[in-house]
Amino acid sequence: MLNIVLFGPPGAGKGTQSQFIIDTFGLKHLSTGDMLRAELASGSELGARVRSIMDAGQLVSDEIVIELIAKRLDSNPEAAGFIFDGFPRTVAQAEALDHLLTEKHTAIGHMISLRVPEEELVKRLVKRGEESGRSDDNEETIRRRITEYNTKTLPVAEYYRAQDKLKEIEGVGEIEEISRRISSLLDRAV
Ligand code: ADP
Repeated sequence: MLNIVLFGPPGAGKGTQSQFIIDTFGLKHLSTGDMLRAELASGSELGARVRSIMDAGQLVSDEIVIELIAKRLDSNPEAAGFIFDGFPRTVAQAEALDHLLTEKHTAIGHMISLRVPEEELVKRLVKRGEESGRSDDNEETIRRRITEYNTKTLPVAEYYRAQDKLKEIEGVGEIEEISRRISSLLDRAV
């Protein structure tokens, strides 16, 4: 199995590059952001609980996202591997993921981290907010999300660096060029 964590701040291009990795390597995409937005859209009780947290740009609880991921891992026993997008976002989530994968006799192979400067992130997300109407893509919430990332999520990169799994990629440039960087890295690694 090939299991990849795609890592980077909000607006780094994780969704876009996930699609490329899925198409190229045939992995199953697990995005906690997409799962949570699906809960919001379905009007579920869970959706109602997380809405105000997401709209404030804060992280929802580890317990909730770990549960969502555990369910998806169980319901995809035939997957050739997974790409984790927007998860793990805390060290506790990374530890839980290691446990879940160990139970399935597999592990994370690589963390690919997309590096993008903060002002470029804000510019991209403000534009996405104007085009898609995503309610957390307004400047105030974007800055809050970046702060959450810097304080709670960045340590996750160190967690994988300690396991010698962290691969850093420059996330600025043409989309296709960034995909090529990821592809050559994975071709060398797998
Ligand atoms: P982005 O990467 O652009 O911030 P996501 O779609 O990954 O967007 O996440 C949107 C929001 O969903 C986050 O701001 C957070 O509130 C919540 N969220 C998503 N994934 C997680 C996670 N693993 N842990 C906690 N909260 C999460």
